[in-house]
Amino acid sequence: MTRRFPPQVRPRKTPFNKQHITLTCHECLIPMNKVPRQILIATARQFYQQGWMMGTAGNLSIRNRDDSFWITASGKSKGQLTEQDFVRVDSEGQVIESPDPDNRPSAETSIHQVIYSLFPKVTACYHVHSIESNLVSTFAVRDTIALPPLEMLKGLGVWTENPQVKITIFENHLEVPRIAQDISDRFTQNPPEIPALLIRNHGVTVWASSPTATQNHLEIVEYIFRYLIAARQVSEW
Ligand SMILES: [Zn+2]
Repeated sequence: MTRRFPPQVRPRKTPFNKQHITLTCHECLIPMNKVPRQILIATARQFYQQGWMMGTAGNLSIRNRDDSFWITASGKSKGQLTEQDFVRVDSEGQVIESPDPDNRPSAETSIHQVIYSLFPKVTACYHVHSIESNLVSTFAVRDTIALPPLEMLKGLGVWTENPQVKITIFENHLEVPRIAQDISDRFTQNPPEIPALLIRNHGVTVWASSPTATQNHLEIVEYIFRYLIAARQVSEW
């Protein structure tokens, strides 16, 4: 017997269209091209709530397999990002995808670009303007700051006993590509001891081989910065 349906509930033959071949992340079922932005939206919201990305400051990026990377567009509140608030740039820093034609890449895109260029295994780079990173940048002796030999350094890949590690600090030039050039020159000659750098009175940048590891790195360096500030206050008592 043929089953009859009223017209409004008749099962329709679904055409085979593009939607059916969209690749999705196996774990989260988000279309693959949206995954980096979804991660960055959640991460930026968290950093904003921490007070690390106030007043649209800072920028976060995730690199794709083709070496292009999604980065937060300029002038967007990091607590309220949507998928429209990004641009995808190629390894030369040229915009190749912009969900909103008015989006502009962050002025600091060149810093991300140079980090990806220097470290081929890096897939995420986060740059924030935290109060602690700015305070600590005033502790620099010439262009480095000695870090305390804390257990937490293991999270930055430092596995020596009583480690004597320094973080490199760069001058905050008005023209950001000049900062990027300094980073390239310095790290090409002297690779960094930890996956992080400071820009004087500006902020901190971290990187790693996954977005989760990059977030961990930022949390660890911010912990160390708070420790350095607290240690200085204790020594002044
Ligand atoms: Zn910045």
